[in-house]
Parts: sequence; structure tokens; C-alpha cells
Amino acid sequence: MPSITAAVLYGREDVRIESVPLSEPGPGEVRVRIAAALTCGTDVKVFRRGYHARMIQPPAVFGHEFAGVIDAVGAGVDAWKVGDRVVAANSAPCNCCYYCRRGLWELCEDLLFLNGAYSESIVVPARIVDQNLCLVPETCSLQHAALSEPLACVVRGMDAVTIRPGNTVIVLGLGPIGLMFVRMCALSGACTIAVGKRADRLSAATELGANVVLDISDYENGLDLENAILRETDEGRGADTVIEAVGRPEAWEQAINLARKGGTVSLFGGCPSDAIVRLNTHRVHYDELTLLGTFHHTPHAFRRALSLISSGAILAEKFIKRSESLLELPAILSALATGAEGAVKIAIIPPSHSGPA
Ligand SMILES: [Zn+2]
Ligand SMILES: [Zn+2]
Repeated sequence: MPSITAAVLYGREDVRIESVPLSEPGPGEVRVRIAAALTCGTDVKVFRRGYHARMIQPPAVFGHEFAGVIDAVGAGVDAWKVGDRVVAANSAPCNCCYYCRRGLWELCEDLLFLNGAYSESIVVPARIVDQNLCLVPETCSLQHAALSEPLACVVRGMDAVTIRPGNTVIVLGLGPIGLMFVRMCALSGACTIAVGKRADRLSAATELGANVVLDISDYENGLDLENAILRETDEGRGADTVIEAVGRPEAWEQAINLARKGGTVSLFGGCPSDAIVRLNTHRVHYDELTLLGTFHHTPHAFRRALSLISSGAILAEKFIKRSESLLELPAILSALATGAEGAVKIAIIPPSHSGPA
């Protein structure tokens, strides 16, 4: 039986590069020879924890951001052929549950997740083939196209808020997601204040269009930092919109302190599942704040994300500055988990992949 090389998650900080059988696509499925997968904060979290309640139970192949070329199609697949360059989302909704019927596909009670991007090959289930598989334009590299999934989450996050040209937006956190928000806000014509750490990420924020960049390590404590951020807003009033992309309760609380009266706070970063935040009720009530959460993406957001990448609007090259072999993945995940590695995203290239990504 032919085999392929893939990363298998066994448990906490235990990922092994192994030979696994090459699967054949079933009815409605396609098989993709992976050109590149991208590292993601969620994968680093899963690596640290050893599992993800909804998405992955070990032992399992993992990784969820990828693009490649179809090398086999299952029975009944007419829309796709061998040789098509494609990107797939990591999930698809059921289209028939309570939430799907209301157009809230990201809240689907039966979201089907796909993992196994850190591999030479992946079989895409029929439901994802039907709804969340897209052709990558010839002018767009597959490595760049693989950004579609995380960007789709950000596209949905942008849909949830109203940002007009000239508005002031604060983005807290400059990981890949925070940096994508910086770029989207800049494209909306907002005056964007980016707050984060690490020289490479701060300079990426500037390259992506942030008007002001603040390094949190320049401040003694949270209050000093808050005051410094507020000083950058109109007369110190706070921002029209604050986007939290850190995923820690302290950052959620800070975000709420940084909005102007009547402003909107998007609490985007996922905190640990038992996290509780203290809420300043005075601010929410008397200052009429709008607090909102957004999660995941929809098929429509996924398509818009791919077009933002292929048109060049998102500047994909600023997010992926390096590629490494799949064989190095365990070491890369360890370095990302400890913070020793600070790259925004690293493209993981399978050993069999020759040719341009
Ligand atoms: Zn991701
Ligand atoms: Zn559903």
C-alpha cells in the first residue's frame, strides 16, 4: 500500500513525523497533494494541550491551513479535476441545523472539521468539497492561498463591526490575526493604532498600514500602557472601535477601557475555556458600549478572503516570510510554543513537494 509522510499528534507536546497510508478519495471527495501548510496559533495551542475538544483527539494527523493540487477525485465529483490548484477551508457547515437555517453557518451545531494539513496529502470530505473548496487563480501562489482560512475569520470579524474612513481603531495583539485586522482596518481607511510586542511584528504592523504602533514592553504596567494608547486617540477619548486579538482575560478588560463613548469592542481572541473577565458596568451602561464576539468563518467569508489574497490587497508576503520542511515541524512547534520562534507564519513544505508553491 502506498504511504505518505505526515505529522501525527499523540498528546501534549508530542508530534511525530510518520509514514501513514495514502488514502483514496471516496464518493464526493477529492485528494489534494499539499504544496504548503501554514503554522497557526491554534495548532500551537493544540500542540501544547495535546488535544482540542471540538477539532482534534489524538492520535490524529493535524494542521488545518493548506493549499495544493488535486491528484485524485472520488466517484461523482464533476466540478473538480486532477491538476486543479485549490485551497480548502478547515470546516463546512451542515446547512440544515437550527443555526444554518438562520444563516449563522459559523455556529452550525454539526460543523465538520478537517485536520491533516501537515502532510504530503489530504482527502477533503464531500461536505467541504461542496461548500469550501476554491480554485486558486494562476497568479496567486499556493502558499499565499493557504492564508484564506485565518483571513476568513478576520473577514467575518470585520463584518461584525462598522468601520468608516477616518475612524480610529485600536488593534490589541499582533499575532497573525491581529496583523490581518491591522491590514483590513487600513484598507477600510481607518486610522489604526496597533499594540503588540516583538520587533518583527511591530514592523510588520507598520508595513501593513498601521498609523501608530505601540510596543507593550515599553510600559511598566497595564495602566501606563492604556494611558499611552488613549493619548493616541482624538483628545484621549478612546477609539471608535477596539479589536482584541490577544485571547487573554486581561486584554479583554483592557479593550473595554479603550473604547470611546458609544464605541464598539470586538472581543475576538479566544481565551482559555474557563476564563472569566471583570466587566466595568458603568462603562457599558453610561458610555453605551457595544461588546461583541465573533467566531470562525462562513463559506462566503472564505471566498472573500481568497480574493483579498489573490488581488494582492492583503499583502500575503508580509505574513509568510519563511518556509521549512515538514520534517522540521516538531522542532518548529516547540519553538513557537516557548516563544523562541517569533515568525508570524511559517510555510511547512512536505518532502515530496518539488515545483513552485
Ligand atoms: Zn488557523
Ligand atoms: Zn448546521
